[in-house]
Amino acid sequence: MAFYRDTLRRGLLDFHIGEAVPDITFDVPRYMREMAEAGVQTLTFMTKDAFGTSYYNTRIGRKNAKLDIDLLAEAVREAKKYGIRLIAYYNVGLNSYVANANPDYRQSDQNGEPIRNAFGFYDLLCLNSPYRDYVAAQLAEIAENYDVDGFFFDITYVWPSACHCEYCQIWPIRNIKIKIRKKPSRVYLAPERIELPFAVKEDGIEFVIPEVGLHAMAVLEEE
Ligand SMILES: [Zn+2]
Repeated sequence: MAFYRDTLRRGLLDFHIGEAVPDITFDVPRYMREMAEAGVQTLTFMTKDAFGTSYYNTRIGRKNAKLDIDLLAEAVREAKKYGIRLIAYYNVGLNSYVANANPDYRQSDQNGEPIRNAFGFYDLLCLNSPYRDYVAAQLAEIAENYDVDGFFFDITYVWPSACHCEYCQIWPIRNIKIKIRKKPSRVYLAPERIELPFAVKEDGIEFVIPEVGLHAMAVLEEE
């Protein structure tokens, strides 16, 4: 992303409006013209906010009901007129609509209490839950349908004392096949030191990690 390194004036539209407003009126041509006049070269632009509403025509998520245009499509079109690069802002962790429909997707603390007041207000979801498929699908949707120049992933972290949700208890990642261009003498899982058998290939080795816990690490020991 050389353009990002090379652009000196960057903007961020941190536009968490939700639906608790009468309507959303946004004059995109004027906004982008004024960004250009201000010398903005790269603009990080809202696609999904902290409430969980989307600002583009999504088939997967919830489009903000107070928005009657495809805000992202207009922003991409207008930004191009001025050569402004657009980065898609996406709030990953916070989503009250998904949380209300799927309470089990919320992050939980050590007492099993769901995190419902992140930053004093928001529902914080766990990316080990099936919510990750929703996020991945929305990101794919944006990447495929809008000519954006990158993504900014906000709120990707685990809350202090979380996460103890049911999905983190039964981490469903196992039997992952790894191919790597190295030829170590042995491979083992740390910290238990469980030896992993591997197959030697022409350009490296191939092995299977049977199960990934919260702290497991595959160690490749060179000769
Ligand atoms: Zn969790």
